[in-house]
Amino acid sequence: MTTLPLPVLDETNSAYWQAGETGSLRILRCQSCRAWIHPPTAVCPDCLSFEVAPEAVSGRATVAAFTINYQKWVPDMEVPFALAIVELDDAPGIRLTTRLVDIAPDEVRCGLATEVVFEHVEDVWLPLFRPTQGAK
Ligand SMILES: [Zn+2]
Repeated sequence: MTTLPLPVLDETNSAYWQAGETGSLRILRCQSCRAWIHPPTAVCPDCLSFEVAPEAVSGRATVAAFTINYQKWVPDMEVPFALAIVELDDAPGIRLTTRLVDIAPDEVRCGLATEVVFEHVEDVWLPLFRPTQGAK
């Protein structure tokens, strides 16, 4: 998986892509109206404030949708794997497109409780999700 193109970091998105270095997922939040913001932008889409800053979230999320990928997009890609959209439990409305790990693709279900794990590649920490430990 590590041969896929990595995100290009900038001033706005680096807090998200490098959050794994701190051990917790961080999502931008408007400091004026408290709205969560993702994908990262420099201005709040709700109130147009420029006062946005990353805040740590628990990393727990619920699978909202998924698909199983069987296509080897690059020669050394391990297939099949589950691509999912997960909704963060403590940042309502924020959904991340991610890859599920530590679960067989045919066991993935909508509503599955998951938690973030990070895959460190070069200067980014990819937020991936696995079933919450002790729950399935
Ligand atoms: Zn705002």
